[in-house]
Amino acid sequence: MEPITLTFLGTGNAIPTPQRNHTSMLLTYKNLGLLVDCGEGTQRQFPQASLSPHKITHICITHWHGDHILGLPGLLQSLGMSDYAKTLHLYGPKGSNHFMHAITQLMTGMPIKLEVHEINPGVIMETPEWSVEAFSVHHDCPALGYSFIIKEKTRLDKAKLKKLKLPNTPQLGQLAAGKTITINGKTIKPSQVTYQEPGRKVTIILDTGFHPHLAKHAQDANLLITEASFAQEETEKAKEYHHLTAAQAAQIAKQAKAKALMLTHISQRYEHRTDLLIKEAKKVFKNVKAANDFDVLTL
Ligand SMILES: [Zn+2]
Ligand SMILES: [Zn+2]
Repeated sequence: MEPITLTFLGTGNAIPTPQRNHTSMLLTYKNLGLLVDCGEGTQRQFPQASLSPHKITHICITHWHGDHILGLPGLLQSLGMSDYAKTLHLYGPKGSNHFMHAITQLMTGMPIKLEVHEINPGVIMETPEWSVEAFSVHHDCPALGYSFIIKEKTRLDKAKLKKLKLPNTPQLGQLAAGKTITINGKTIKPSQVTYQEPGRKVTIILDTGFHPHLAKHAQDANLLITEASFAQEETEKAKEYHHLTAAQAAQIAKQAKAKALMLTHISQRYEHRTDLLIKEAKKVFKNVKAANDFDVLTL
């Protein structure tokens, strides 16, 4: 199974600290390099994570607040100066065309090919193997969450093929497509030699106020990544500023029956108290951790 790899490039909040840069993460799967948000300084996080920014093929912006996007001009400029040869696709909520126009004006020339997609909620990218879905969240500006979904797949069981002494012909592909075939006079049904490889799902919910519908979008996620800007004592403040507490993030994970929860967008106020956020979240949902810059997860 090809791994999905997530690298946390920045796990901080509005103000960076020596330990935490502004929000950004890179999800890679085969040739896909999906950067979600690009806070100031993100491009410097790449070499520190021993990654090349040329891995990026797509950028998904959750919303146009400075702590999530101020790294874009620098990153795009550096890609141009280092002969980035792909067409870079950038997706974001309402306003993305306007903001990207302003950003490209800042730069001397725009040597990379860039396509901006101002998107509505729904499926925004799809291949036969995987898709990316965007959904609305509840911040004080147009804001989106994203799910990366690998679809369930029918695979051939090599051991069973061997047992039946089937020759390795292109006909076997039809079994994986659900068709019964006849080889050397033997009729083989797909159920005899195939199995279902389960799908996988990573859901990313950054700045948002709490809302019951969020769990629906994270349903059965193998990994849910959410912001956790506040502790429980500041629940009112979280509501006022349209952010989540760690306990609310855990509630979304629990309702969604997610398998694991990773908290990010950690405020400098909790720099030395992330254990408090974890403790409060754990009361609601056990499998929770707080991300640190340069953490790498594979699933
Ligand atoms: Zn925000
Ligand atoms: Zn933010």
